[in-house]
Amino acid sequence: MHRLRALALVGVVVGAAFVPSTASAPRTAAAPPPCSEEPRENPISEFTSYDEMLVELDRIERVSEGRVTLEESGTSNQGRGMMLARVGSGPKVVFITAEIHGNEKTGPDALLDVVDYLGTSDSTAAQRIRDQLTVVAMPKINPDAASLDRRGNDMTWEEAQARFPQLAASPPPWNYITDQRQGDDYSQRPGFDVNRDYHPDLNYQPQPQDFPGSSDSPGWFLSPETQTVRDVYKRLRAEFGAVDTYVDLHHQGACYTVPGTDDFVTMSLSGKFVADPRTPEGSEFAEFADTFRPEYSRQLNVAAYNALQDAAERNPDYGHITLYPQDINLPGTGLGAFQLNGSGAVLFEVRGQTQTLGEQHRETLTRTVHIGLDGILSSIASGEVTRLDPAAYDQIPPTDRGQRTLGGQTDIEG
Ligand SMILES: [Zn+2]
Repeated sequence: MHRLRALALVGVVVGAAFVPSTASAPRTAAAPPPCSEEPRENPISEFTSYDEMLVELDRIERVSEGRVTLEESGTSNQGRGMMLARVGSGPKVVFITAEIHGNEKTGPDALLDVVDYLGTSDSTAAQRIRDQLTVVAMPKINPDAASLDRRGNDMTWEEAQARFPQLAASPPPWNYITDQRQGDDYSQRPGFDVNRDYHPDLNYQPQPQDFPGSSDSPGWFLSPETQTVRDVYKRLRAEFGAVDTYVDLHHQGACYTVPGTDDFVTMSLSGKFVADPRTPEGSEFAEFADTFRPEYSRQLNVAAYNALQDAAERNPDYGHITLYPQDINLPGTGLGAFQLNGSGAVLFEVRGQTQTLGEQHRETLTRTVHIGLDGILSSIASGEVTRLDPAAYDQIPPTDRGQRTLGGQTDIEG
C-alpha cells in the first residue's frame, strides 16, 4: 500500500535554482511559484454547487431535445438526490462518476460539459459517440461531502449499525473519519471515505468478521452513496450485458511534478487498482480472473493520454500528464471493484484538492478532464482503442512526488 505520510516539516521549496535576473544572463526556465500542500481556506464558488448542478442538468435535458435523460438514481445519507444523466443509444456503456471525494471538484464541471456537448452538438464526432455508446454520467456521487467541501460523507457509524444490526458489536471500519483530515474537523460530524466502501462481490452483505478491515481489503457497501452507484452498475450490466468502461474522476496533491522538469502535473492517469486476480498476489479475487481485462484499461488510458498530448499544442499544461502510482491494491474502490467485474477502468487524478488550490486553475484543469474524457469516448466509438498498444501505457511518465514540497498534509489516495 503506497501512502505518502505527512512530514513534520512545514514549508515550501522552490524547485529551480536561483537564476540571475540580469539581461545578459542565459535564459533558463523561470523558477516556478512556491507550492504547498498545507490545508487552507480557499474560494470555491466558481465550481458548480449541488443546487447549481440540478439547475444545469435540467437545462441540458431541456435543450438536448430528448437526447439527454435524467433520473434520480438514489439518495445520499442526508437525503440529497444522486443524479444520473444518460445520453446516446449505442451498445457499449461508458459509466463515468465524479466527486466521490467532495473536495475534488473539477470532475462534476467537466462531466456536465461533456453531457452538454453530447446532448447538443450536431458534429460528426458527437453523433458517432451517441450512435456507438451509451454514456451514463453521475456528476456528484457524494453530494453530502460535496456540500461540506470535504473528503468524507456525512454519516455516523451508529447510523450504519442501525441499518446493519449484525454489526452492533463491531468496531467502526478503518475508513471512518472522526478527527482532522485535510483541514476539515470531523469530530462533530463524522463520515466515511466512501471510496473504500466498495466490494468486488456486488451482492456482498456486511459481515462482522470483516471489520475494521484495511486499505487493501474490500469495503462493505455501508453507505447509501456506494449502494446507489453499485445498483446503477448492476442495472447497466443487466441491460447491456457488460459495462464496457468505468471512469472515476478525482484530484490528488497540488505540487507533484513531471520527472526531470519543474512542470506541475496537471493530471495523473491510472488503469491499475488491484492485484491481478490471475496471479498469486491477487488470488483473493481469483474468481474474477476470467472477467478481468487489464490490457483494455491500459488502452483506455493511452487514449486519454494521446488526446491530451495532442491538445498540448494549444496549451502545454494539457501535456503535463503522468502515471499515478502503480503499486496499489485497493479492492474497496469503485475502480478496483468494477475492473474486477470486467470493465475497462480509468482513474483521473487532477492537480490539487480544494484545501490546497481552491478554484485556482479551474478552467484549465476542468478542460483537461474534458479532453481526456473525449479522448476515451472518441476512441471507443471509433474502435481505435482496441488498436492502441497497451505497452504505450508504460511510457507515460511516472509522477515525481518528492522534489517540490516539504511538508504539509498530503492525503491523496484516489
Ligand atoms: Zn479522490
